[in-house]
Amino acid sequence: MAPTLKLNSGYEMPQVGFGLWKVDQATAADTVYNAIKAGYRLFDGACDYGNEKECGEGVARAIKEGLVKREELFIVSKLWQTFHDEDKVEPITRKQLADWQIDYFDLFLIHFPAALEYVDPKVRYPPGWFYDGESEVRWSKTTLQQTWGAMEKLVEKKLARSIGISNYQAQSVYDALIYAKIRPATLQIEHHPYLQQPDLVNLAQKEGIVVTAYSSFGPTGFMELDMPRAKSAAPLMEHALIKEIAAKHKKTPAQVLLRWATQRGLAVIPKTSRPEVLAQNLDSTTFDLESSDLEKIAEMDLNIRFNKPTNYFSADKLF
Ligand code: NAD
Repeated sequence: MAPTLKLNSGYEMPQVGFGLWKVDQATAADTVYNAIKAGYRLFDGACDYGNEKECGEGVARAIKEGLVKREELFIVSKLWQTFHDEDKVEPITRKQLADWQIDYFDLFLIHFPAALEYVDPKVRYPPGWFYDGESEVRWSKTTLQQTWGAMEKLVEKKLARSIGISNYQAQSVYDALIYAKIRPATLQIEHHPYLQQPDLVNLAQKEGIVVTAYSSFGPTGFMELDMPRAKSAAPLMEHALIKEIAAKHKKTPAQVLLRWATQRGLAVIPKTSRPEVLAQNLDSTTFDLESSDLEKIAEMDLNIRFNKPTNYFSADKLF
């Protein structure tokens, strides 16, 4: 079982969880069930991943079979951009909870700090970035402050125990701290040796916000999308320095990449469906890197971001 981190909401969050992006509907229920069996307790989902119903089936099966109790799980989901308008937040959260077959999220995040015009779930779900499902981007005039107010109401109504933010940069974090009545419990960001964002991580940690690293393996998670930027980057697990540190500690390069984050107080949410890899990732907090390892990895920062809208669509569609 993974160690936990205490959130500013008072709840404990597992430091190693399981990411659900790109887990297809056909395998999601079994993937979640098997991950619970392997000892995972935190699941990182989202409306946009299009698999919440199936993930919920995996959770329900594990609970029914007595593998785990609901209160032992930590289920995370995210508010998609088309639901930022204040009156849309609660209804979509209730739909997402129904999909998961649960009555509260342990943590609910604003997925991206950008509001898009509402798309009725009856028209298309998940809605994605485009209003017409193809190419038209329509921004909503709702501010992040208004959306955060609606997120706070989810806590009041006990639909979410903790609320947080994702893909925010420093200025929007500062801004949120000014208007928040409930401070964000976590900030989820892309974080790996090629994109370290030390100022943002320090700012969040100094303000008592737990940082969750996503895409800990850098380009690897984006290869499945056929993204040219990811395909041309040197894979982190084959990087000479990471391999050298892994050999020294008799661990895998993946474990070094995860430990580099968790040892510095971040949470991680790697994704895999292979049983031996499931165990290896969960077991990545049981050794310590030396401070010289951390210093050398810090020098690998290239400020390369893989997860940004303009890497998925041509910029002229968005701006
Ligand atoms: P990741 O960094 O976890 O990499 C996944 C890839 O690495 C897969 O191809 C998997 O087979 C491989 N892998 C995993 N463990 C391995 C190991 N021990 N050895 C060798 N290969 C291994 O990928 P990701 O999906 O980009 O990120 C993880 C999670 O983060 C997502 O599933 C999602 O939950 C979350 N995420 C959030 C956002 C956001 O905007 N908030 C964006 C991206 C990802």
